[in-house]
Amino acid sequence: MKKQGLDLQIQYLKGLGPKRATLLKKLGIETVKDALYFLPAQYEDRRNKKKIFELSVNEYVTIEGKIVQINEVRTKSNLSIIEITVSDGTGFIKAKWFNQLYLKKIFKEKQKIKIYGKTQIDHWGKYFEILNPEYEILDFSPVNSSEYGIMPIYRLTEGISQKIIRSIITNAFNYAKPYIVDPLPDKIIKQLNFPNLSEALQEIHFPSRNMEIKQLNERQTIFHKRLVFEELFLMQLGILMLKKNREIEKGISFNPEGKLLKQFFSNLPFKLTTSQMRVINEILNDMKKEIPMNRLLQGDVGSGKTVVALSAMLSAVECGYQSALMAPTEILAEQHFMNISNMLKGLPVNVVILTGTYNKYANLISSGVANIVIGTHALIQENIKFNNLGLVVIDEQHRFGVIQRALIKKKGFNPDTLVMTATPIPRTLALTVYGDLDYSVLDELPPGRKPVITKIIEPQNKKLIYRMIDEEIKAGGQVYIIYPVIEESEVLDLKSATKSYEALQNIFPQYKIGLIHGRMASKQIEEVMKDFRKGVINILVATTVIEVGVDIPNATLMIIAHAERFGLAQLHQLRGRVGRGDRPSKCILIPYKFTEEAKLRLKAMIEHSDGFKIAEEDMKIRGPGEFFGVKQSGLPDLKIADILKDQSMLEIARRYADLILNEDSSLNKYPYLRACLEDFWKNKIELFTTA
Ligand code: ADP
Ligand code: MG
Repeated sequence: MKKQGLDLQIQYLKGLGPKRATLLKKLGIETVKDALYFLPAQYEDRRNKKKIFELSVNEYVTIEGKIVQINEVRTKSNLSIIEITVSDGTGFIKAKWFNQLYLKKIFKEKQKIKIYGKTQIDHWGKYFEILNPEYEILDFSPVNSSEYGIMPIYRLTEGISQKIIRSIITNAFNYAKPYIVDPLPDKIIKQLNFPNLSEALQEIHFPSRNMEIKQLNERQTIFHKRLVFEELFLMQLGILMLKKNREIEKGISFNPEGKLLKQFFSNLPFKLTTSQMRVINEILNDMKKEIPMNRLLQGDVGSGKTVVALSAMLSAVECGYQSALMAPTEILAEQHFMNISNMLKGLPVNVVILTGTYNKYANLISSGVANIVIGTHALIQENIKFNNLGLVVIDEQHRFGVIQRALIKKKGFNPDTLVMTATPIPRTLALTVYGDLDYSVLDELPPGRKPVITKIIEPQNKKLIYRMIDEEIKAGGQVYIIYPVIEESEVLDLKSATKSYEALQNIFPQYKIGLIHGRMASKQIEEVMKDFRKGVINILVATTVIEVGVDIPNATLMIIAHAERFGLAQLHQLRGRVGRGDRPSKCILIPYKFTEEAKLRLKAMIEHSDGFKIAEEDMKIRGPGEFFGVKQSGLPDLKIADILKDQSMLEIARRYADLILNEDSSLNKYPYLRACLEDFWKNKIELFTTA
């Protein structure tokens, strides 16, 4: 059915048809509304209309005059040039177009013409000329005064020129004007001193002469800000609605006396950091509530998340419920199992492990004998049943999607969920990617941690590297050597971990060297890890299977080969494997091919040890879209706002979204806002129905 107003399919707009509509679709424009929100990528200042005698070189100008001569020139390389000479009575200027022979038919002598472009001096140093200027024949078309103002420049696709897109946008705006309704509630517009939607769109597509070009180009005008706000507001409304819908679900209220916790704390060989205490309190308060907890715990590598998780798990256990901890790899699950079993020695708590390799305890889980279950995604297999799962902890979240999160929760009846991530997400990103979760942060490392000294050493300096390895082991430490892939055949120029393992055995016959990679059976990996942990192995050659979570305090030197192939977040994770004990640690980055981007990354590693700083650098280098899985997060794309640049607006948007929802949780009073919200979240309408 042909719709009306902003929903009108663009092909039905005057002067358009299915053919152009297909082209416009490539730009994301399918409806009139899409066209209105298709903002100029840039602006050109054409207020600078000059007489030819006033011109100087390298300026953007608009000139109006008469065509006095038309030439067609052919270069030796068979390029055809259409060249016209224009006079305005104060001088002559040449305009040249390359390979656009059809212009011959368009230009006629004595025609009035307007050209716009950047001036330069011609080949003979005689005249000003403009190459490939934009032009407009003035003979038959009335002068459009806006052409002398600030000109919007849009993103294009093949078959759509600036001229065409401008006329489409103009048509769309003129057609839509009577239908434009502002989705933002009046009081928000008033409080924030925003222009209304229609005014904002008008000024963005057809800026007034008195606007500042710099502000326009940086999208910093109040009109742009308003649209940025609108987009972020819709995003936050969706996320907060999801969150608030969850809050009316009924969950378990945990009210432990705290006996287990007390015992646990007194067993620990260290004092909790202030951060840990604060976060544990936040979590326990959440667990007391009748609504299910959905909390994100963020803490840099080594900040001590495990102890926090364990405190929550013990509280659930004390209340008679089971707790599950889900880790992304078997190595991690096994390490957690070992550490946690150790830390809980003497407490009346049964801990079991469940992974692809260890699966014989399923019946202990279903019978309820197991109080704490530690595992991999094996936990979400269909045949695994819990007796009364009350708390789910998901470690190293970025490996798990929203779906796994939902699946493990189904193993219980609305259990509390704690998601832990070591990947430090800048706060604003957390508000979007994990905006449906409450948020705790461990912003402090346990005392006594020394920063890991990080250096770049070129591969030619092998000897130096071997010497460092030798010294480290002699001083009582252990060494990791990390490689990106294992099979030589996968990437030819890559020294495989396997090859290096063999070579090292010849270089260091006196030391025991271990090898682990993703193709080994988990049982084998586990054997090697055990030996490394015990100190039997001095040097562990590994691929990124050890990337997250592995905690072996005696390992004090990490060498990362082909460091340029790793992303920043990954390098930070890897480096986090050392610097966990009392002795100072080192991390050596060995680059083989050094691209500009790789240089920036490795430099960031040397300059920063704080994961938050590194994450910010990462976003600067790669852009937020590329930044660890934001793309896979299932959130709608932002067309106007930029999460990095518009951080403060994001926070404002979140605050107002919260205000509006507190007053009217399903937006009944704002039907048009609600419609825009559903439009914005397109295929994710299920968000707005109670899960
Ligand atoms: P992550 O947050 O990276 O998961 P872990 O929980 O593995 O960190 O903790 C890193 C190391 O720090 C572990 O060896 C742990 O026992 C130790 N640790 C945790 N909390 C403290 C603390 N408050 N004081 C000293 N060491 C601590
Ligand atoms: Mg951890």
